[in-house]
Amino acid sequence: MSDGKVVRLGGRAAEDLSARLGLPAFEPGWVWLVGAGPGDPGLLTLHAVNALNQADIIVYDALVDEAVLGLASPRAKLEYSGKRGGKPSPKQRDISARLVELARQGKRVLRLKGGDPFVFGRGGEEALALVDAGIPFRLVPGVTAGIGGLGYAGIPVTHRDVNHAVTFITGHMAGGEVPEHLDWPSIAKGSPVIVLYMALSHLPRIADLLIANGRQADEPVALVRNATLRDQQVLETTLASAAADVERTGFKAPAIIVIGEVVRLRDGLDWLGALEGRVLKRDPLDTRKARDAV
Ligand code: SAH
Repeated sequence: MSDGKVVRLGGRAAEDLSARLGLPAFEPGWVWLVGAGPGDPGLLTLHAVNALNQADIIVYDALVDEAVLGLASPRAKLEYSGKRGGKPSPKQRDISARLVELARQGKRVLRLKGGDPFVFGRGGEEALALVDAGIPFRLVPGVTAGIGGLGYAGIPVTHRDVNHAVTFITGHMAGGEVPEHLDWPSIAKGSPVIVLYMALSHLPRIADLLIANGRQADEPVALVRNATLRDQQVLETTLASAAADVERTGFKAPAIIVIGEVVRLRDGLDWLGALEGRVLKRDPLDTRKARDAV
């Protein structure tokens, strides 16, 4: 995991790797939209490393870890575009316009986003703005928090005994409101596992909506803060208690939230905890007991 220091790496190792794997050359005037994953630099793709090594300018988001930026070539310029210190975030239109402007200057523009650019990351909007302006682009997917982040908490997003479907939801609309327009009755009924992005502040309302539509009050819920980073924190709770537990523990964003029986698997799969001495349960879902009872 990251040491959180921005020390730039020399480019030889990355160049050798790119040559060996035949990774693409970053042409001037192009924008590469690249996912940085949830934080641990070890989760970067080789395409991301290849991009970091060649970019002239890196326009990065709030959730991109410093250790990831440290892999940029020493000559790359870093430009922050996100929310910081309570200041309003730049408008999406302005970010897209900036990418177009930099590409038109003939720069190799790396647009670096947390997780996967196409998962609640507005990557599609930015790419469409590039297409509209006639700027060539490439997309590099990243590990998304709602899958990889949960994996670091020992929670599989699907598990054969539990769920054959999963729903990813943003808990925060563009204007900051709860996504009330979603078909909550269908989600509650049809999706055994629900993964919520950007949902911490609206968790009380979302939990109420799910319980009102038939989910059990004692259904397990896990919140993972700073997933994959050294200071990752996990809060295990239930639908009915989640809001109060968040309040009581002062649990803060960024957090990924998962609702469903897969959370119980953590007792057996918390591999990070095991590194610290946690004893893993061999049958966390008690499937053997259930099977023996038949
Ligand atoms: N494109 C990103 C999501 C961006 S939306 C992705 O694919 O992961 C921002 C939200 O993602 C946060 O509010 C939080 O819910 C989640 N998130 C991103 N990184 C995270 C991390 N390291 N730990 C916990 N949640 C994270």
